[in-house]
Amino acid sequence: MRHALYPGTFDPLTFGHLDLIERGARLFDRLTVGVATNSQKTPLFTADERVAMLARHTASLANVDVVSFGGLVVDYARKNGCGALLRGLRTVTDFENEYQMALTNRALEPDVDTVFVMPSQEYAFLSSSLIKEVIRNGGDASRWLPADVNDAVVARLRTP
Ligand code: ADP
Repeated sequence: MRHALYPGTFDPLTFGHLDLIERGARLFDRLTVGVATNSQKTPLFTADERVAMLARHTASLANVDVVSFGGLVVDYARKNGCGALLRGLRTVTDFENEYQMALTNRALEPDVDTVFVMPSQEYAFLSSSLIKEVIRNGGDASRWLPADVNDAVVARLRTP
């Protein structure tokens, strides 16, 4: 069985992430979406909140499950039988970071390879941090993320 891990911060979940999850679910027999808990970024949502958002929006995909994990991505992958990591490529800047990370992860765990997938063009510029910046400054980001997630970000960033 081809089992992949899609690790990330997902703070918050966007249509770009969901686009990638749908592609991953078609490419692999099983896809585990892993919410990283030890990111150096200070997240807006707790890991449990991010897991709940992802679980809600992937419920219709039978071969997708959502977990949170700490520590090294490759350790989690190895212990859970994931032979591949799924990551998204949006821009050339992504490529530099992702290339470095993929080679580091493979050096740490030679049996785990990284598979890169490009999102639909309409989501190729989307990032969680940009969305938070738009909402924080009063803009409307509702076309880029699910309505309940948008409401949750607005509530958290605009509540005085
Ligand atoms: P991280 O902090 O690990 O980068 P993110 O939640 O920002 O976590 O992203 C997780 C993964 O999803 C990364 O591989 C990133 O490139 C990818 N990703 C994020 N947004 C998009 C998007 N709009 N299109 C395609 N891939 C994306």
